[in-house]
Amino acid sequence: MVNDSVSVALAMPLLAAYDYHVGDFGQLARGTIVLVPLGRNFVYGIILGPGINEIPRTKLRPIKSVSRLAPLVPRFVDFLEKMSAWTLAPLGSVVKMVLSQPDALLPPPLQTIYRPVMPQPDAARPTKARERVLDLLQKAGGLSAAEIRKSAGVSASVITTMVNQGLLEAAKVNLMTPVANPDLELAGPELTEDQRRAASVMCSSIGSGFAAFLLDGVTGSGKTETYLEAVRSALAVGQQVLILLPEIGMSTSWRNRFKARFGVPPTEWHSEIGPASKRRAWRAIQKGEVQVVVGARSALFLPFADLGLIIVDEEHEQSFKQEDQVIYQARDMAVLRASQEGCPIILASATPSLESWVNAGMTGEKQRYQRLVLPNRVMAAALPEISAIDLRTTPPDRGRWLAPPLIEALQARLDVGEQSLLFLNRRGYAPLTMCGACGHQLACLNCDSWMVAHRLAGRLRCHHCGYEMRPPNECSACGESDSMLACGPGVERLAEEVLHRFPSARFAVLSSDTMGSLKASEMFVQSVIDGDVDIIIGTQMAAKGHHFPKLTLVGVVDADLGLAGGDLRAAERTFQMLMQVAGRAGRESLPGVAILQTLQPENPVISALLDGDRDEFLAYEVAARQAAGMPPFKRLASIVLSASDQERLHTASDTLARAAPRFKGVDIFGPTVAPLSFLRGKHRTRILIRVEKSVDIQQVVKSWLEDVKLPTSVRLNIDIDPYSFL
Ligand code: ADP
Ligand code: ZN
Ligand code: ZN
Repeated sequence: MVNDSVSVALAMPLLAAYDYHVGDFGQLARGTIVLVPLGRNFVYGIILGPGINEIPRTKLRPIKSVSRLAPLVPRFVDFLEKMSAWTLAPLGSVVKMVLSQPDALLPPPLQTIYRPVMPQPDAARPTKARERVLDLLQKAGGLSAAEIRKSAGVSASVITTMVNQGLLEAAKVNLMTPVANPDLELAGPELTEDQRRAASVMCSSIGSGFAAFLLDGVTGSGKTETYLEAVRSALAVGQQVLILLPEIGMSTSWRNRFKARFGVPPTEWHSEIGPASKRRAWRAIQKGEVQVVVGARSALFLPFADLGLIIVDEEHEQSFKQEDQVIYQARDMAVLRASQEGCPIILASATPSLESWVNAGMTGEKQRYQRLVLPNRVMAAALPEISAIDLRTTPPDRGRWLAPPLIEALQARLDVGEQSLLFLNRRGYAPLTMCGACGHQLACLNCDSWMVAHRLAGRLRCHHCGYEMRPPNECSACGESDSMLACGPGVERLAEEVLHRFPSARFAVLSSDTMGSLKASEMFVQSVIDGDVDIIIGTQMAAKGHHFPKLTLVGVVDADLGLAGGDLRAAERTFQMLMQVAGRAGRESLPGVAILQTLQPENPVISALLDGDRDEFLAYEVAARQAAGMPPFKRLASIVLSASDQERLHTASDTLARAAPRFKGVDIFGPTVAPLSFLRGKHRTRILIRVEKSVDIQQVVKSWLEDVKLPTSVRLNIDIDPYSFL
């Protein structure tokens, strides 16, 4: 063993770590970030420890440079290794998520600012524009050109001229503004008895090692206010806090809530944060200067210096599952990170996932999480009353989607100036376009899926690969013109019906197509709160997080929609979503109702919703999963093979099938053609592996794949604990 070499995990999808010579850098600790040569390039990586390959010293390449940042804390590196072992993703791919902002590793760039020259030369001819600039800078000291242009309302040439005439001077400075710290002296709302009890348990866990809590509270019970008390406790002892939210659309209202409680906004981390802000945040988090980060799942890979608490809000949300590149469930990995950091984690939900329900010991399995219950709404008298419209006996008019009782309920809200939400989890105008003459259905060229009509955009779109086309005037199969018909409703089509029924109502469509950016959804939320909208027509984007005091009716247009298709979690997902969306109604003093349009009121999901009995649903679902031998009572992994060449794919599938292990307690289903047999131009087959909980499923998969060599033209994806079965 060569002891002046180190093992480095490079930020690229490599299975193994590589050894490098430390050169003149001397002792380098685990977690040190380094730049090393690879082929003809240089790549960042993280030192894992002493070199492990017995390569003669002379053959080792030396480290190019060592980051001036402090090494990542060893328990964070432990987490990265454990995460890679759990997901079977290459360690390098995990490291790449950590070093996602390579520029953050360099010293922050200096910026040019402009200051008035003192004293001002006499000869200069004052103009209004110049005076505004000087006034501004007299107050502000020095500003960048962009800020001067914006605040003084002048063009760039004004600044250039002023510099040339000796009125302004340029200077290079480091513009890192320190992060404003939360004010821990501000008082929150007075907590209810239930909230206080839950908060005190969570607060006293701060600083005492790993502990997991399931904060189980009905919608509007004040879960956020309650866990913010635990946030305060962690901040009070100088530790950092990470809060994971499922969707960026939600973070606006969350940010306002945080600001109201602590006086300053939290640091945010998600796809809409620009690279410069990310760079600054990354460094400040690593140095321990940022105290609170709220973010999407990628925030889990931030290099906290001293993490004292993790919160996963809406823990049941499926969007915590990342489905591409490194495939992982952020909620589960957050628990892993908390256990490595030795800090508490709080999973909050009104409709806990079955996984967390089981982990809270609710089914007699080993209890891993402590459950804290908030049974009542804070501000409203009661949870919304949920009722059903049986579409078999009370259908809508032909070619329409709203049944008469729902129309009456909407009218009643309009009459008294209250707001309604029509929920339909389908983007666009119609999910299917079909030829009325020959029955030909418009499908994507790259995928085994239908083209969805988007009339607002005047396009047909594939929701799987993004392929777009103009709506054709004639059928490509039979040549008939003007024969293409839209089948079924999406939110845009529903908007048409609302316009037809209630011509004077003000309505707005809330979907990812209409709310492309955070800004757009913020403006929308404000307009609803200001009372500028009577009827919201929304997809799942409307189901979550929002708190609209005057919204008193939720109409679910097709409550059965999510139940079809029938993957493992279809019932659970539908129940959670409908419960969430119903929970948008009557959140303050005005009582709310939710109405479900359904063809199957006797379905266990629908009937539990009608009974307002969440635990009835959970008990039913637990029994169903146990009977079927499905998670969380057994474990699953899936392998997807994909290739553009169908023949190669089938040969590879056969090779894999022949090597399949035969172990006790391990079932292997497949390979079979995937339900989505063609996706983004690739053919796909699937294998499902199911094991008893006592079996190490990663080991089963690893030992199987070790012996199989597949051609490079066939791609293999492993998904531990899969959520998608397409
Ligand atoms: P949940 O996340 O459980 O759905 P929220 O945390 O959004 O509930 O709380 C619902 C509303 O009640 C929010 O407007 C919140 O500010 C308010 N609230 C929560 N707890 C209290 C309290 N103890 N006193 C007054 N208002 C509260
Ligand atoms: Zn046709
Ligand atoms: Zn497609």
